[in-house]
Amino acid sequence: MPDPACDLLVVGAGAAGLTAALTAAEQGARVLILTKGHAPDSSSWHAQGGIAGAVGDDDTAALHAVDTERAGRELCRPSAVKVLTEEGPERVRELIAMGVPFDPELSLEGGHSRRRVSSVEGAATGWAVTSLLGRMAARMDQISTREATNALALWTDGGRCLGVVTPDGPIAARATILAMGGAAALWARSTNPEGQIGDGIAIAFAAGAAVADLEFMQFHPTVLAGSRLLLTEALRGDGATLLDDKGERFVDELAPRDEVARAMVRKGRVWLDLRQVDRARFPGLMIEIEKAGFDPATQPIPVSPAAHYTIGGVVTDLVGRTDIPGLFAAGETAATGVHGANRLASNSLLECLVFGRRAALAALDEPAIPTRPEMPLAPPPERRASQELRDQVWREAGVMRDPADLAHLALSQDVVAQLVARFAVARWESRGVHYRIDAPTTDPAFEGHFVLRPGQELTLERWS
Ligand SMILES: Cc1cc2nc3c(=O)[nH]c(=O)nc-3n(C[C@H](O)[C@H](O)[C@H](O)COP(=O)(O)OP(=O)(O)OC[C@H]3O[C@@H](n4cnc5c(N)ncnc54)[C@H](O)[C@@H]3O)c2cc1C
Repeated sequence: MPDPACDLLVVGAGAAGLTAALTAAEQGARVLILTKGHAPDSSSWHAQGGIAGAVGDDDTAALHAVDTERAGRELCRPSAVKVLTEEGPERVRELIAMGVPFDPELSLEGGHSRRRVSSVEGAATGWAVTSLLGRMAARMDQISTREATNALALWTDGGRCLGVVTPDGPIAARATILAMGGAAALWARSTNPEGQIGDGIAIAFAAGAAVADLEFMQFHPTVLAGSRLLLTEALRGDGATLLDDKGERFVDELAPRDEVARAMVRKGRVWLDLRQVDRARFPGLMIEIEKAGFDPATQPIPVSPAAHYTIGGVVTDLVGRTDIPGLFAAGETAATGVHGANRLASNSLLECLVFGRRAALAALDEPAIPTRPEMPLAPPPERRASQELRDQVWREAGVMRDPADLAHLALSQDVVAQLVARFAVARWESRGVHYRIDAPTTDPAFEGHFVLRPGQELTLERWS
């Protein structure tokens, strides 16, 4: 029988999940957080550069919105951008009030026209924010947390979501928020923790929710070659340069990420020169680089792009509601349309704070669940991504995409790999992070979001 003690089930303990849980608990709700791993297994824990938000004296929400929309290439949902940029500064100030020790100077990152990124020790922002929110959640009586518990499927009855199914059995709640992060670890070269393979997308789609924008995987340009170590954009904001094998610069280092990533792939081998940067601003990162065997004070270090951020996901409205009553999504799992075809740097932690809070407040309005619901079927096996699958996704849906490769990937047995390929085949143009070698320019006919509902064909929708 359902556990009547849980008002809100939050799947995922990254910035979106923790924000949602704390928001609901502050309203008096009883919350259960479920997470497949432990705290460091979220992308939020590893986030570096910081959180965008118009908190500087020379900045406004409107300027932040202009930059967000410019990066998003005619595809950002204007209402979502308005919410993000207008509510963002308040969320950042709340973190300051909670005690996040932001650096005194705002950082400048690619695509931003102002210094507007709040960071901790240059590149320790995700850890500082997530560990603080985690400690706050642990102190609240209304919040309990179950780690190392995999959500394998949604529990639905009569079209309504009642919770999730885990290997230990079903868990019921009045409302469920999927804050399960993205799918970037499905690509062999990725900045994300290994478990971030799009489980949220897979279980929501299996239960009948619409998904959108899955062709848009953002590749981060500067990841230390042969590793998952991301070298934050803020380094380039502080003067780091990209060099080719002749030691020459070849791209505007602060251009949007997709442009920088493609310029790097075209060059082949590329190095990041940190010698002019005030490296003391990034102490943790410098230690990691040295541990990997490089001395950033004396030599440029080898870098190449890696899959980083999943722009698409489970379709939601501006309060995180999905197509399935009782089911919400927030953070990287959700597709609100806020990022359009390319996410502006440091807008995603902000998205977690803004939309995680909104989803929690909306979720508390859900009615009680039936006392005798239909019990769920036996759960499906855990979804795993083999190295072979990750290599295939990297090869066939990478920075520059060939239609024959995409058609091959569309036959994959893995639901998320297959969906990415289907979306990328449908978008027969290049826009933002999605680049097709057979259609290298943007086509106004594709100015919209591809949406897929289970059992239907892809449709192109305009979101206002
Ligand atoms: C290295 C790195 C640096 C970044 N730097 C920045 C930055 O400077 N600024 C910025 O704005 N963004 C940055 N990003 C992006 C940003 O960190 C993420 O978009 C954001 O943190 C996502 O938060 P989330 O809460 O949506 O998901 P996550 O933080 O990824 O959390 C997902 C949670 O879901 C859980 N989960 C997943 N599957 C299951 C399952 N089946 N069952 C149960 N639980 C599950 C995970 O265990 C985890 O707890 C960075 C990302 C990375 C990887």
